[in-house]
Amino acid sequence: MNSNNFDVIVVGAGPAGITAALLLARKGLKVTLLERGEFPGSKNMFGGAVFGRVLHDIIPEYWTKAPFERFISRKMITMLAEDSAVSLDFHSAAFKKPPYNGFVVQRTSFDRWYAQEAVKAGAVLLTQTVADDIIREGSQVVGVMARRPQGELRAKVVIAADGAVSLLAKKAGLRREFTPNQFSLGVKEVVQLPAGALEERLGLTGDEGMSNEFLGRMGGGLHGGAFIYTNRDCLSLGVVAQAHSLKARKATIYDALDQFKRHPAVAPLLEGGRFLEYSAHLIPEAGINMVPQLFTGGMMVAGDAAGLVLAGGVFLEGVNFAIAAGKAAAETAIQAFEKGSFDQAAMAEYEVRLKESFVLQDIDRFKTAIPMLLNERLYEVYPSFVCRTLENWFMVDGTGHPKLAGMVKRLLGEDMGLWQMTKDGYQFGRAMLW
Ligand SMILES: Cc1cc2nc3c(=O)[nH]c(=O)nc-3n(C[C@H](O)[C@H](O)[C@H](O)COP(=O)(O)OP(=O)(O)OC[C@H]3O[C@@H](n4cnc5c(N)ncnc54)[C@H](O)[C@@H]3O)c2cc1C
Repeated sequence: MNSNNFDVIVVGAGPAGITAALLLARKGLKVTLLERGEFPGSKNMFGGAVFGRVLHDIIPEYWTKAPFERFISRKMITMLAEDSAVSLDFHSAAFKKPPYNGFVVQRTSFDRWYAQEAVKAGAVLLTQTVADDIIREGSQVVGVMARRPQGELRAKVVIAADGAVSLLAKKAGLRREFTPNQFSLGVKEVVQLPAGALEERLGLTGDEGMSNEFLGRMGGGLHGGAFIYTNRDCLSLGVVAQAHSLKARKATIYDALDQFKRHPAVAPLLEGGRFLEYSAHLIPEAGINMVPQLFTGGMMVAGDAAGLVLAGGVFLEGVNFAIAAGKAAAETAIQAFEKGSFDQAAMAEYEVRLKESFVLQDIDRFKTAIPMLLNERLYEVYPSFVCRTLENWFMVDGTGHPKLAGMVKRLLGEDMGLWQMTKDGYQFGRAMLW
């Protein structure tokens, strides 16, 4: 076989592409994994949580091998008002035991480790290699053009796992142009804390970690959220804003991050901290509406490249979806090699697999969360309403405690009517509860 000919070419060494390459290589197929970065993970960022049950199926007891920071035993959700906050703080003993619910990781070390597992299985990793285009013969995709000498690489199957703005899916005519309301922009800082500060400030022991996801009006009136994840001795924190709100408010996400760091519920956690690094990335958040045609003859699209992210308010899950999609793409390719058929009908099995897994089931189940997240009262009104209600209720100022119902009615009247709240409650219920 010519050195530029492979059974499968996988483009993008993120969780989707690495999973596909690893499983294909294990089956003895000749697979190459192209990555534009200097090493896998060098171009990648995310908040911090890998929900790894799906990885456990691929690398049993992966937590004994993967470079993780802490396991997540505590999950918080916080609503932010201007100078107050209210949190749901969930602890679980079940999350502290194998197979664990999730881990905080740094992508630079996690992706690098995971890609090495694929290389150990036999995949050929080509870093600093950008795939610029696909090669077609008739309606069949038969390879990619890589930006390197003798860059024409050929294969029976191409798996595009090239991230949120997948160039290859576009080149293959599988997706339309994006619109700003399909994406959020996330920025993240990593802040080193003095020794022992993290445990002391957050009440953590050993390898225990936590995640905190914030909802509220971000600086500059941006609609979105924020997050904090605990690494071993530093914090990852960031802000996520809907791209259309950045445009409409003419606000910068850097100001929003700055304001988040100065919030009274956040600033004490960062005291004495030293800035380590900064990164930014897009999140495809439009759910089922932005999932492209997932396959064509000789090609499949996986992970963020296919918009396979669950972004439903309290959920932001992409890595586990990417791993599951990479696995489905690999299994489809393996079946295609067994049958010796790589046409569109053979690749269609990929979509069937995704529909049978949590990937398309969850994205479909929470599809009504997408319009809910566009409701500006979710950011502008409710967080501050809840915080003001509790502030008034808990305030001991010598005037006596009002009954909650009367106070809610009064505070509600300042912002909106009961009818509006009922309608929003119904929208929330449909999106998240039933
Ligand atoms: C701010 C933020 C916070 C997030 N938080 C979480 C979280 O806590 N938990 C979670 O599960 N998910 C989270 N996500 C989502 C998650 O990061 C993604 O869903 C996940 O990384 C998708 O994996 P992937 O393999 O599809 O794509 P990616 O991880 O984006 O990998 C794509 C790879 O392809 C490479 N590439 C791109 N184009 C080319 C090309 N033409 N040629 C060669 N290589 C190419 C890139 O360099 C990259 O390595 C977050 C995302 C953001 C932005």
